[in-house]
Amino acid sequence: MFIDRVKYAITQKASFLIFIITLMATIIRPIFIDQDVIFTYIGIINTVVLGLVFLYIRFSNAQHWHPMFFVMIGLVVLIPIALVSGGVNSQFAFLFPIIPVFIALVSSPQYTWASTFVVILVIISLFLSTEFVPDFTYENVPSSKAESRALWLCFSVMLSAKFGIEFNRINYALGNKLSEQAEIDMLTGIANRRCAMSYLSTALDSAKDTQSTLAVMIIDLDHFKSINDTYGHLVGDACLKSAAQSISSSLRSDTDLSGRYGGEEFIVVIKDVTAVDAHKIADKIRSSIEKNAVSLDSKEIIKLSATVGVAVDDGTNLDSVEKFVEQADVALYQGKREGRNRVVLVDKVQQAPSS
Ligand code: GH3
Ligand code: MG
Ligand code: MG
Repeated sequence: MFIDRVKYAITQKASFLIFIITLMATIIRPIFIDQDVIFTYIGIINTVVLGLVFLYIRFSNAQHWHPMFFVMIGLVVLIPIALVSGGVNSQFAFLFPIIPVFIALVSSPQYTWASTFVVILVIISLFLSTEFVPDFTYENVPSSKAESRALWLCFSVMLSAKFGIEFNRINYALGNKLSEQAEIDMLTGIANRRCAMSYLSTALDSAKDTQSTLAVMIIDLDHFKSINDTYGHLVGDACLKSAAQSISSSLRSDTDLSGRYGGEEFIVVIKDVTAVDAHKIADKIRSSIEKNAVSLDSKEIIKLSATVGVAVDDGTNLDSVEKFVEQADVALYQGKREGRNRVVLVDKVQQAPSS
């Protein structure tokens, strides 16, 4: 899935950045700062651990648990170095509030709040640890200041979680809206051509696998140009909406799909259906379009009719999406030639040579 790939890419970049920062800090810090040798040792261990984590994430197959694994390792390497540098007074304590916002980006709100709780426990433990663990930076921080730092760290961690979760919520809502718009025909509200063709492609693959019969219908409104010419495009649009409504209400919502193929043409895909039933459904659609006349005002009503071309096969003769649509088109044009407002069916299963 696209979102999972993005989360994986964020984790990969973050693990690389943290590794590089730790490496640079381990090499450069001792040059400029006179620090206890314990920081060099911990820095070397952390660099090796983070380097291995980065290499593992970079060169293994993406797994859904990789982001959480990286965060947990990050927390594990952060705790010792914060512990020996003053706990909540440590300069490394500033890294804690980054953790929840990162988790929010790569996982669910539940995981974010759970890890926020863990990080807060870590901060409280670090605050309490100052009594037992020496501060190797030898800073003398009054305990009242340490208390307020611990408190503000906890607030920052919670704020970071909330911001991350809200950011993600807005992002998901936008993503859903975009993918909905990419699949829906704006005028009629049914599937657009791209979505219908992708549905047909999947349905054809599963028909081949299960040796079940698939029906594809192309529905073309009759003499639609004259409706536009007589009443104008807005009325024509209202007729298209009415036809789309008639088509979708004649279908089962779970297994059948209707879409706007283009202009005043619609496509219907019906899975696992016999030729006889496909013909019945096509005729139901045809008569529903005919019955649902569009009323302009109290006086005038516009009667619509449609011709339906139906192709039925199990994927043996019509083995591609294009061939299916082409056969339905051939049937449709035969229906137009024969006088319109009718259903013409091509049953390729019956025509298949028996083996
Ligand atoms: P036939 O019975 O042979 O199908 O005749 P027809 O007039 O329906 O066929 P033709 O393909 O000649 O005309 C289709 C018309 O559909 C032409 C175009 O003005 C109209 N049309 C296509 N898309 C839209 C649309 O989005 N809105 C409206 N109002 N009209 C559309
Ligand atoms: Mg047409
Ligand atoms: Mg037409």
